[in-house]
Amino acid sequence: MLNLSTAGAGLGLPKVLVSACLLGQPVRYDGGHQLAHHPVLARWLAQGQAVAICPEVAGGLPTPRPPAEITTGGSGASVLAGRAQVHDSAGNDVTDAFARGARLALQLAQKHGIRVAVLKDFSPSCGSSHIYDGHFAGRKVAGDGVTSALLRDAGIVVFGEHQWDAAAQALQALQAVACAAGKD
Ligand code: SF4
Repeated sequence: MLNLSTAGAGLGLPKVLVSACLLGQPVRYDGGHQLAHHPVLARWLAQGQAVAICPEVAGGLPTPRPPAEITTGGSGASVLAGRAQVHDSAGNDVTDAFARGARLALQLAQKHGIRVAVLKDFSPSCGSSHIYDGHFAGRKVAGDGVTSALLRDAGIVVFGEHQWDAAAQALQALQAVACAAGKD
């Protein structure tokens, strides 16, 4: 059930986990950001509902850093299960940092009672529908990143950066359920 008691800004509104780079924080591997412009995000920011996380930085990786991909055939779930790894373009195994960042993202979400996340597409951490195929050749395959997989496993609904309206609807539906339950 949505925990409205943890909602922020004194408005009684639930919070949403958002990739830090979508909020304009310069945390991407290349030192840049991917600031998103959408009315839903603007509203969440104005109402104090957006909670930023960069799992890779949280996991201990520097910025800038070499780009990383999940090894071929793998996905976030298989990394978490120990059946795939995350390697950077320099050949380093960064699996532990990605797994640590995912756990910290989940802890942050749970601390705020978060049930909905909007994360950056295609990232080996934040991707929610497609990720790169492990060859550093720009090819994408169906699958999610390590953080998205862990959040989903915990029951958090993860959306991509082009699904702001769907995320807002999901949040509204969860709020309605929570309100209805509170009236029983
Ligand atoms: S890990 Fe997620 S939040 Fe951090 S830069 Fe990559 S896509 Fe953005």
